[in-house]
Amino acid sequence: MKELIIEMENYALEHNVPIIEKESITFIMKFIKANNIKNILEIGSAIGYSTILMASVSPDVTVTTIERDETRYMECLKNVKKCGFESKINVVFQDALEVNLSNVAYDMIFIDAAKGQYTKFFEKFQYFLKDGGVIISDNLKFHGHVGKSSEIESKNLRSLVAKIEDYIEFLKNNKDFETKFYDVGDGLSVSVKHNEKK
Ligand code: SAH
Ligand code: MG
Repeated sequence: MKELIIEMENYALEHNVPIIEKESITFIMKFIKANNIKNILEIGSAIGYSTILMASVSPDVTVTTIERDETRYMECLKNVKKCGFESKINVVFQDALEVNLSNVAYDMIFIDAAKGQYTKFFEKFQYFLKDGGVIISDNLKFHGHVGKSSEIESKNLRSLVAKIEDYIEFLKNNKDFETKFYDVGDGLSVSVKHNEKK
C-alpha cells in the first residue's frame, strides 16, 4: 500500500497529473474518520490517488469515483486492483455531468474535477447526499490566483479563476448548506447539508 502510494506520486509527477496535496488528503482522511463517513462519491478520479487513500481510512468505507479521461481511468483501475480494493471502489468511466446515478444517498461527495464546472457538479450531485451529508471541494485557491482574477493577463486562466470565485460566492449564499473554507493545501471547502426535518 505505502509503496503503491509512492509509485502513484511519482507517476503523477512524471505525467503531470494534478493529484491532491498531502496536507489536503490528510485533512480529508481525518474528516472521514471523525465523522464516521462510509460511502463517498468522488468527481474526478485521475489515477485513483485520493480515491484509494479515502477508501483506506477504514474497512467499511466505499467509494464511487467518476473519470472522463480514458488513460487516467485505465490507470485508476490498475491501481485499484493493485491494492485489492476492487470491492470497495467503483470506477465509472464517463463525464460526470452525463452520469445517471441510481438513487443512492452518499455521506460525502468530493468534488475535484474541472474547476470551471464546480457549480454544475454541486447543483447536480447535491441530490445524492444524505441529510447532514457533506460536499468537500478541492483547489479553491487555484495556486493563489483566486481572489485576483481581474489581475490575470491570460484570458482562459482569468475566466477559469473567475468561475472558482463565483463558486465560492455560490457556496457562501447557499441556504441549504453551511460552508466552511479551509486554508489547507490548495484550499478546501466543507459544505454541510442542513437537515430537512427539524
Ligand atoms: N482526485 C484526484 C485528482 C483529480 S484531477 C486526486 O486527487 O488524486 C481532476 C480529474 O478530473 C482529471 O483527471 C480530469 O480528467 C477529471 N475530470 C474533469 N472534468 C470531468 C468531468 N466533467 N467528468 C469526469 N471527470 C472529469
Ligand atoms: Mg485537486
